[in-house]
Amino acid sequence: MKIDFSQKPKKSLGQNFLIDNNIIKKIIEIGEINNNSTVMEIGPGYGSLTELLVNKSPKNIIVIEKDIKLYKLLKEKFITCDNIKILNKDVLDVIKKKNLNKNIIVYGNLPYNISTKILSTLILLKKWPPWYHTLILMFQKEVADRIIAKTNTKAYGRLAVLSNWRLVVKKHFDVSNNCFFPKPKVTSTVLSFRPIKNNKFKLKNPKNLEKITQLFFSNRRKMINKSVKKIFKEDKLIVDNLNINLKQRPGELKSEIFHNIACQYEKLFG
Ligand code: SAM
Repeated sequence: MKIDFSQKPKKSLGQNFLIDNNIIKKIIEIGEINNNSTVMEIGPGYGSLTELLVNKSPKNIIVIEKDIKLYKLLKEKFITCDNIKILNKDVLDVIKKKNLNKNIIVYGNLPYNISTKILSTLILLKKWPPWYHTLILMFQKEVADRIIAKTNTKAYGRLAVLSNWRLVVKKHFDVSNNCFFPKPKVTSTVLSFRPIKNNKFKLKNPKNLEKITQLFFSNRRKMINKSVKKIFKEDKLIVDNLNINLKQRPGELKSEIFHNIACQYEKLFG
């Protein structure tokens, strides 16, 4: 695919465009698109992924591009496609909307500066199961490593705990920095996510989990007893029921423990 990169890439919008056709094809294949699918793309840029999505002939395609110039180029490029809706919006506003179709397959070579914000917004949606069926997203490798990190590793922290709460995460492959223009400094990784429809730890206000993980992991090297005390004061019954060793550090606790703590916190304090 030959793209005329007619304007200077904007760093502020995380513009690193994919230029490797094999990688683009591999990403598209992950989603198992059929004629009945609705597909969304976050940040289509010049439309290199979008083109292949169109070739798969899904029922509907929604693409969201914040850059007005790229939006105009996309409007021109896909002028003959009647199943594509091109929005000049901020994706963070669109994904919170209540009127989105169900079962959408979401693609995104994400703008790196807001990639974790996009993911956490998709996890913390009030309505669950959510409107999306699958997320197929590319992150900087370092961020992807934090998302899939296991307990007792350096990368394990808030992102893994949040992701494990509502999503099943799968790593697909790494993408060399040579596959982009302009070339970023780091390697990227493609992950996919499926919502867990019936997770054990339900929260009325998912932000409570964010609050809890923030509290614990801002004291990563300290034993958890202080954080637990801060939340539950001296309520021994609750602490006993959590079944945790207060001498452990946050990185040693499985994700479910944090999910449980958030539930107990919500029961007590709303
Ligand atoms: N998908 C294209 C590709 O792979 O070549 C472009 C990927 S580039 C990493 C990220 C794209 O997201 C850019 O086109 C950028 O303008 C767009 N973008 C950045 N912030 C955005 C936001 N808040 N909402 C929607 N699009 C955004």
